[in-house]
Amino acid sequence: MDEAWLVECFNRQLERAAAHPFYRRIWGQDLPRVESVAAFSRVPPVPCGAFAEDAFDTDAPRGAFFNRGVARINLTPSGRGLRPIYFSRHDLAVMRRINADLLRRAGITEDDVAITTLSYSLLPAGLMIQDAFEELGAKIIPVGPGDSERTVELMKNWKVTVVYGNPSFTIKLAEQGAPPIRVLVAGGEPFSAVPGYKDAVRRALGQDVILIESYGMAESGPIARECRYQNGLHVAEDYVHLEIVDPADGTPLPLGEVGEVVVTHLDKEAMPLVRYRTGDLSALGRVDCPCGRSLTLVGGIRGRADQMKKVKGVKLYPAQVRALLDSLPETRGRAFRLRLQEASAGTAQTLALILEGPPLAQAALDALQALFRKRILIVPNEVLTQEKLAAGPVWDTHG
Ligand SMILES: [Zn+2]
Repeated sequence: MDEAWLVECFNRQLERAAAHPFYRRIWGQDLPRVESVAAFSRVPPVPCGAFAEDAFDTDAPRGAFFNRGVARINLTPSGRGLRPIYFSRHDLAVMRRINADLLRRAGITEDDVAITTLSYSLLPAGLMIQDAFEELGAKIIPVGPGDSERTVELMKNWKVTVVYGNPSFTIKLAEQGAPPIRVLVAGGEPFSAVPGYKDAVRRALGQDVILIESYGMAESGPIARECRYQNGLHVAEDYVHLEIVDPADGTPLPLGEVGEVVVTHLDKEAMPLVRYRTGDLSALGRVDCPCGRSLTLVGGIRGRADQMKKVKGVKLYPAQVRALLDSLPETRGRAFRLRLQEASAGTAQTLALILEGPPLAQAALDALQALFRKRILIVPNEVLTQEKLAAGPVWDTHG
């Protein structure tokens, strides 16, 4: 994106955000104005979860962002109860246009008849999707979740070609006799991050079905989505600016490096995000795609930043270990735990990998260690196996 245009968007958003005490508390009293993208990356970030805290600490449950300009109130679950997500009339119009464009890029046209099986009640998704299809001019029947028998009947009668919903529910619909569809826009649950899930959906819905994965959050709206060529999650660059930062200290990272996704709205009035740390891990990269978009979250979302630990000076994410284990037949799908013993006087930090299931043969162990050395740059001090791993967090730091 053109830097001058981005800087203009940043400054408008900084000004909008500065109207809220929420942001003034984070920035100090001075309103930061920026002259470049690099300068913007030095604006203090909003910690992950700060909006949820705000809803209950300031005028609960409305929070600091409730004001006369709010036109839609959605609610989303948080650890302390349902919290609000706000949109002004302007926000709804912008989001409708952006989402319609994303659906068009996903290959959906005015000739499609769509349903969404996501909820219209309280949460942002249902109405947001309804708006987007209507803006595009595709036909959409507001179905919502639940009654699979009636949904299958509707799909047959109306020759539905597009479903926007949970992949698991869509598989269930196919098993109950739903006709083949052309496009599934997946939402509401992890998708490509689950090994084999896309293949299972193709087996149920047909090999030619276009599977579109999206990334977004209740407070952000759309962040990235696949296009019909399915070359990865393209960033919605006209709606959000993304950065990848080191989860440990917030330092911006270059293209290709895995770190925490930081999101900024480019044009949002109510509850604007300015350098919001999502807690999600990914990497930005450029891909060649016939659709014309190139900035992409390469490899999708790879886990949560709070699961990262530094081991022997190297950042280690459980998601990396999962991917590594799944690439070897002997360890594919096995549950695992990482036991980190911090350095103390006279002993260095040690890492143990504990795998569920039978012991590994020497050849498999060698292959595993070689992969660790190649992909993660460190090798566990020991690899142990246990017949059954007790439930618990993936990191064991008390051993
Ligand atoms: Zn594309």
